[in-house]
Amino acid sequence: MNIAILSRDANLYSTQRLIQAAEERGHQVEVIDALRCYMNISANKPEVHYKGRVLKEFDAIIPRIGASITFYGTAVLRQFEMMGTYPLNESVAISRSRDKLRSLQLLSRKGVGLPVTGFAHSPDDVNDLLKTVGGAPVVIKLLEGTQGVGVVLAETHSAAESVIQAFNGLKANILVQEFIAEAKGADIRCFVIDGKVVASMKRQAKDGEFRSNLHQGGSASLIKITPAERATAVQAARVMGLNVCGVDLLRSNHGPVVMEVNSSPGIEGIEKATGKNIAAAIIEFIEKNARPHNTRTRGK
Ligand code: ADP
Repeated sequence: MNIAILSRDANLYSTQRLIQAAEERGHQVEVIDALRCYMNISANKPEVHYKGRVLKEFDAIIPRIGASITFYGTAVLRQFEMMGTYPLNESVAISRSRDKLRSLQLLSRKGVGLPVTGFAHSPDDVNDLLKTVGGAPVVIKLLEGTQGVGVVLAETHSAAESVIQAFNGLKANILVQEFIAEAKGADIRCFVIDGKVVASMKRQAKDGEFRSNLHQGGSASLIKITPAERATAVQAARVMGLNVCGVDLLRSNHGPVVMEVNSSPGIEGIEKATGKNIAAAIIEFIEKNARPHNTRTRGK
């Protein structure tokens, strides 16, 4: 097959591993930077131009779209979908997953376990907002944050009030969530491919920190997940419409709760923690499913 990887940097671990796994399995691979693609969308025949030429038709495309280029990146992916190229994850599902609020609303509607969560823009009644999520301690998150930036633990009611007021001043959308203290600074990344959890790891926050992001100094290790955790991760992937994703769970005393579903999950952490060949599993999934226009949404 001819496979495109939509990635800004061919040297990233995840991109390198996908190239390697695809080539080992006899495929041709080309890395394409979404920001350098341009398109004529008025033509009847959709095509993508790249560095002065029209791109050939690929059998499949692997989107690795960074959060900061979601808008343009998903537009480029949609163009490929309209040409019939099989996307590992569909543009619509990626856009959906990038909107934290929309994701939580969809997951909640389908009964997926979530932390008790409220959201607000500029609440007049901060006390009532805090009451709806059970009061302090709470975690307050900027909706646009990634990698743990803009995630604050407010241990007391007055700290929570001050943080919410400060975020109000920034005119930002926020989430206010019950603090899952019993998770003890650990979260679980479940790597889901095709409705199955193929690997999972625990990420533990460094001492004195509640955020377990690797970017915040967290460390990864192997973990055996429970059937309920497995079922939650699989259901979250299905609700989001993602073939491949990373589902981040917390162990709460009301069962596993989903914090986030990542549509471009990194491969390095999970391969190193588990020793599994995740890149090859992704290519195998593509081999099984890549047929022209074999998508749920066709970009709509
Ligand atoms: P980001 O998307 O920026 O990574 P997250 O919402 O995943 O932000 O939060 C970052 C980290 O903070 C999580 O990995 C988790 O360890 C911790 N965390 C987030 N929400 C809660 C919560 N409600 N209770 C306890 N810990 C939390």
